[in-house]
Amino acid sequence: MIRKFSTKNPAKTKILILGGGFAGSNVLREIQKQFKGNDAEITLVSQDNFFLFTPMLPEISSGMLHASDITNPIRTFCKTANFCHARILSIDVENKGVSVIRIFDQKETVLEYDYLVLALGSKDNFFGNRNIEEFAFTIKTLEDAIAIRNHIVSVLECADQERDPVLQEQLLRFVVVGGGFAGVEIATEINHFLQDATKDYYKNIDAGKIKTIIVSARDGILPEVGEELGKFALDHVKKSGIEVITNTKAVDAGEDHVLLSDNTIIPCATLIWAGGVTVDPLVAALKCEHGQSGRLVVDQYLRLKDYPSIFALGDCANLVDLKTNTVYPTTAQIAIRQSKLVSENLIAEVKGNPNFMQPFVYHNRGVMATIGKRTGVALVNGKKIHGFVAWVLWRTFYWSHLPTREKKIKVGFDWLLSLIFRADIMTVGFIKKKTLSRLETPIYSAIERGIDQTQSVSSYL
Ligand SMILES: Cc1cc2nc3c(=O)[nH]c(=O)nc-3n(C[C@H](O)[C@H](O)[C@H](O)COP(=O)(O)OP(=O)(O)OC[C@H]3O[C@@H](n4cnc5c(N)ncnc54)[C@H](O)[C@@H]3O)c2cc1C
Repeated sequence: MIRKFSTKNPAKTKILILGGGFAGSNVLREIQKQFKGNDAEITLVSQDNFFLFTPMLPEISSGMLHASDITNPIRTFCKTANFCHARILSIDVENKGVSVIRIFDQKETVLEYDYLVLALGSKDNFFGNRNIEEFAFTIKTLEDAIAIRNHIVSVLECADQERDPVLQEQLLRFVVVGGGFAGVEIATEINHFLQDATKDYYKNIDAGKIKTIIVSARDGILPEVGEELGKFALDHVKKSGIEVITNTKAVDAGEDHVLLSDNTIIPCATLIWAGGVTVDPLVAALKCEHGQSGRLVVDQYLRLKDYPSIFALGDCANLVDLKTNTVYPTTAQIAIRQSKLVSENLIAEVKGNPNFMQPFVYHNRGVMATIGKRTGVALVNGKKIHGFVAWVLWRTFYWSHLPTREKKIKVGFDWLLSLIFRADIMTVGFIKKKTLSRLETPIYSAIERGIDQTQSVSSYL
């Protein structure tokens, strides 16, 4: 039986925040300062009981940082608010109810609201390719990052024992699909780790045999930083030994290969997918207007069209930048900025001053990315910076955005230790997403499945 969860005090305005990422957690923290629990009952629902600082996620895969460095229990943000550890099943915008299922015992409940904040983020988009979804690792959640870490360390362990040189090369080929921030950062981070770990610990592996490959559908990489810096990033990434295949898409995969749009097969044991995002099916099913990749169309005040009591922001919201006539990208910087505005507009609305609401205006002060060992690219106030200074800027900027002093100290300390000590090569528990049973023979499952019957398939070897 589905329980209906009514407010403890019906006189209070019920504000329900869905999602505990950059957007949801920041709205929670901002509005609590105003309401102090007297006039509103605030509840945040999330399937993760922690906030995850995603820009540092690739550093979990490389072992530079630890899981607890970049996660914060959401309850530590809840001064007066309630936290509900549950997965959201559906949202009834007509009857103002959200159906959720408790994580621990799967019990279903309906939460009522007067105002709803939708901050459900995004999920990986495989563009309907089931094989890629099945065989690729992703880099979106903490489990993803730990799974990649366990996998690459296991691959090194296996390659160290492998005496067949063809199979060893196949094991040491790491393919990352996606030339945006997430793809480039995970590729450069793992490449750095693999090179260091091999030199230090794996006597039977020639570090020169390690091949990290980025597959980008565009002409280059990091389109977000502009042409000149993108070119610098591309040159630097190539110089560090990473191969970049441009103007090409990954179109199929098996557990031992990836097939590209030019019919090349790359035999490999590792495929990481950072090829794009879409919204959760739950968001896609909402009865309202949807934009790019199913994102929720909002007005300039970040409210759903036709539903003024529902705000949407962050990756799940579709807002057009009137200056460029393009949809705002899915970045943490935009989610943070939007959370400030949603908080102010929500407070104005709840306090009966809807005329005080402000439209969303975003002044992009800069974008930056790390592209390997102590190197970055940054575009700050129109100024192009690259190399070590850009890397320091990246670290300083994101470090300063970690939500608590405790995390700043932990991350700072771990970065410092990494300057002194070697890379850590242990696997964590038994979190492992994939096994590689087919790697007993260098026969590619693609060939077995008949993909090469056109005769035009070329092998990467
Ligand atoms: C590897 C990586 C690196 C990145 N690097 C950068 C960077 O350097 N700079 C930058 O600006 N951006 C970066 N981003 C993008 C940034 O992470 C996102 O734009 C940002 O997280 C969006 O914030 P959000 O609150 O909208 O979504 P999220 O932070 O994804 O939060 C979504 C929340 O909703 C919850 N949720 C989702 N579905 C459900 C459900 N059904 N039930 C319950 N809870 C649910 C999730 O648990 C989560 O708490 C990176 C992303 C990745 C993956």
